[in-house]
Amino acid sequence: MKTLDQYLADAEQAHGHLCAGQVLGVRLAMLGLEKLGIEDPRGKDRKRLVTFVEIDRCATDAIAVVTGCRLGKRALKFRDWGKLAATFVDVESGKAVRIAARESSKALAREMHPEIESKNQQQMLAYREMSEQNLFDVQSVKVDLQPEDFPGFKGERIVCEKCGEGINFKREVRREGRILCRGCAGENYFTSA
Ligand SMILES: [Zn+2]
Ligand SMILES: [Zn+2]
Repeated sequence: MKTLDQYLADAEQAHGHLCAGQVLGVRLAMLGLEKLGIEDPRGKDRKRLVTFVEIDRCATDAIAVVTGCRLGKRALKFRDWGKLAATFVDVESGKAVRIAARESSKALAREMHPEIESKNQQQMLAYREMSEQNLFDVQSVKVDLQPEDFPGFKGERIVCEKCGEGINFKREVRREGRILCRGCAGENYFTSA
């Protein structure tokens, strides 16, 4: 594993700027890997890890940088819960750990560095210095992963009976004897313009 500073440099490059969210994300991911005993997530351990992120903000990019998990490799899973938290799953051992940023860390950053006016600067520095205990809640969890959730899964491709579009990875919905994509089954996020 790299050092915090090395990961922050990588994260800055990938994300386009350095911010408090990057610091949180890098530290959160480093702690997750440490708890699972994964030392080389981008090298020899790269097939061992699946990561769930619960927010789509700055920290998400940093978590991807440290873990090497990417959406396009099916190793990064997004749950849109709006929470600064992530779960790291070691698919070899089945061990998993969920780490969430503590809500109190913002107030603590203010106490630690009242002299810094910019909130982002204040939090960037404080989140580097703060202890893991003050920054995060850590929880051992179990994650039920199906074969189709893993990177590299190959399965039958199926066609939606309503819109005719192909569906991968068992994401179809079976309803009243019909096979539908999730959009046609009522989960659509768009309407025709
Ligand atoms: Zn940012
Ligand atoms: Zn459809």
